[in-house]
Amino acid sequence: MISQWNGQFSCFDLVARTDHRSRSVVLVGDIEIGGGDFVVMAGPCAVESEPQLLRTAEAVANAGARILRGGAYKPRSSPYSFQGLGVEGLKILRKAREATGLAIVTEVMCEEDVEIVAEYADIMQVGTRSMENYALLEALGQCGRPVLLKRGMTATLEEFMRSAQVIAMNGNPQIILCERGIRTFETATRNTLDIAAIPVLKMVSHLPVIVDPSHAAGVRCLVPILSRAAVVVDADGLLVEVHPAPDKALSDGEQSLNFRDFRDMMDELQPFLDLRDKPSRPRLVGVGGTD
Ligand code: PEP
Ligand code: MN
Repeated sequence: MISQWNGQFSCFDLVARTDHRSRSVVLVGDIEIGGGDFVVMAGPCAVESEPQLLRTAEAVANAGARILRGGAYKPRSSPYSFQGLGVEGLKILRKAREATGLAIVTEVMCEEDVEIVAEYADIMQVGTRSMENYALLEALGQCGRPVLLKRGMTATLEEFMRSAQVIAMNGNPQIILCERGIRTFETATRNTLDIAAIPVLKMVSHLPVIVDPSHAAGVRCLVPILSRAAVVVDADGLLVEVHPAPDKALSDGEQSLNFRDFRDMMDELQPFLDLRDKPSRPRLVGVGGTD
């Protein structure tokens, strides 16, 4: 039987939770997203240069992240802002993977770029502004890589599930959902983290669900506490912005953590992970290294 929420979601059979399929695990190399581990993806908003990315990759790996984030193609609120390094950025991401062993998640903005991004990325990120770009979602059905689907900033959970269904219908069941905050009347934070979305999605869908506290908050001081909230509501992981010098970042510096703050945040998450009511207690993998 397909789980329903207030009578909703029942037509999204491929991504719906059923008696026979309660959880799916997205495998990226040996990393299981939606399995027992809490998987942290971290890195800068945008790839800016080779030293910036390599330093960040090393620092986040040492703090326990398993996946490196970084945009090579950036959808910006202003057309005058830094738009990303494009293919050069993808090449830098590949170097960082070779240097650290971290898997790579990076955004793809249009269907024409799916092939080139899939050559370099381990996970294809769909940004909030693209959640309803069906031509892109259809192309991602055939890309042969897992997809990290971010919730549209004005999308209901039903619309979010519909976009996941489009990717699945086109042949790709490897989908990770990401709650990144939605637009509400509140202006004290950049977006409003819809914390209830995580348990609702996990009740109605078998897909893994992660949280992006950085874009939800818009300010770095809220990122650790929102990450703890994500652990408590049983999210499968995080997507966090980290930069060597947040004040000099070309994008989203105000919400980016520096290396020390990221490490502290990771250490402080562990007791909350230990409290989770799971048969095998999930642990952050790799915590305890040095930077
Ligand atoms: C990002 O992850 O840097 C990004 C642009 O996120 P969003 O699409 O959620 O705004
Ligand atoms: Mn960003």
